[in-house]
Amino acid sequence: MSNIYNEMLDFAKQNIAPYTDAVDADAKYPVDSFAAIKKEKLTGLLVPKEYGGMGLNIEDHAQTVLAFASSCATTALCYMMHNVATNCIATHGSEEMKNELLPKIANGEILLALAYSESGTGTHFYLPEIKVTRTDDGLIMNGRKSFVTSALYADYYLLDSNSPDGEGLDNWIVPASEGVTFQESSWNGLGMRGNASMPMVLENVKISEKNRVGEATTAGEQIFNTVAPFFILGLSAVYTGVALNASNTIIDYSMNRKYSDESALCNIPTVQNHISEVYTKSTAAKHFTLAAAKSALNGDEDAMVQIISARVNASQAAVEVCTKAMKIGGGTAYAKRIIIERLLRDAFAAQIMAPSTDVLSIWLGKALTNQPIP
Ligand SMILES: Cc1cc2nc3c(=O)[nH]c(=O)nc-3n(C[C@H](O)[C@H](O)[C@H](O)COP(=O)(O)OP(=O)(O)OC[C@H]3O[C@@H](n4cnc5c(N)ncnc54)[C@H](O)[C@@H]3O)c2cc1C
Repeated sequence: MSNIYNEMLDFAKQNIAPYTDAVDADAKYPVDSFAAIKKEKLTGLLVPKEYGGMGLNIEDHAQTVLAFASSCATTALCYMMHNVATNCIATHGSEEMKNELLPKIANGEILLALAYSESGTGTHFYLPEIKVTRTDDGLIMNGRKSFVTSALYADYYLLDSNSPDGEGLDNWIVPASEGVTFQESSWNGLGMRGNASMPMVLENVKISEKNRVGEATTAGEQIFNTVAPFFILGLSAVYTGVALNASNTIIDYSMNRKYSDESALCNIPTVQNHISEVYTKSTAAKHFTLAAAKSALNGDEDAMVQIISARVNASQAAVEVCTKAMKIGGGTAYAKRIIIERLLRDAFAAQIMAPSTDVLSIWLGKALTNQPIP
């Protein structure tokens, strides 16, 4: 394993963990964590060195997101999406787009977000209804995206639409400019409370050809080949981090929770069984996620299958580990005196974020039996 995981665990303990309680309690976007991330120029993790970035790869992405999620799932999710959009620009953007945006991303000046979901497309990213039309005035964009994490806080949004130039989709880099509004205060999620995942409304937004990422009508391939591996693996890392946090927290708690006879919670054999289960599931999720990342880095033929499987496993592990940890934590956990209930609320997002685990399980079953997936 590269060293970045341990380095980022330390970074997260010092710069992200202190704000996690407030992010959840006040549904506050993790501005303080992002101030530190920008200061350390970690926004440039996937920016190639020639544009001033760290020039790191998918494995480092997974390790960093995992380390951040062990302190704060919300920060890790927002950061993960920034990395996904950055990588799409670095891989498919024009030289002009790369020269304009990548040095600023590398320098911690700008943050990116993903505006893909629409209520008419649900968990399927690849069926947008958003309209881009050619007028005498240039390209005009109209429509609504339903959940945009980091809304209001990101400087640019990677957004997919039907192409005005033929069958297929386009990816666009849209700045938070005139005509772009967000339905503020609409995010009151069960978990991931500081995410700021709100609808984005685009009303006669003028965009330029220069904002298109790659060639016209090629976004479908970009989404499948470039966005999906970093995004699905990123979700695997986020929810593995949640599971690890729950496991570590409850193991500590079980040793410190003492009864009148001086025995501890962890001395009870049933609790020992439960602890064995939460540790095994969370550690297995970590190893699977990191192995899938390594496989992607190596360009293994089955890398995408591993990534999907790791993500499905991590999502189940997060919910199961947190549920079991709630049981171990007893009334104290239920009374929210330890953080497990927050982690359980965060974990529930794992199964429904697009592509959801139900959709991914179908894809996995198809891929493993040589059937085409969308
Ligand atoms: C915390 C959070 C942050 C998010 N951030 C972003 C973001 O930054 N950018 C973005 O673009 N989106 C984001 N989303 C949106 C997310 O990725 C999904 O698009 C959204 O949650 C889908 O919700 P829905 O109600 O439309 O689901 P629906 O499509 O209505 O699905 C409901 C249920 O049916 C299942 N289902 C639907 N279709 C199928 C099928 N064909 N096969 C099997 N099962 C199916 C789903 O798995 C799900 O369990 C975010 C969501 C959350 C919760």
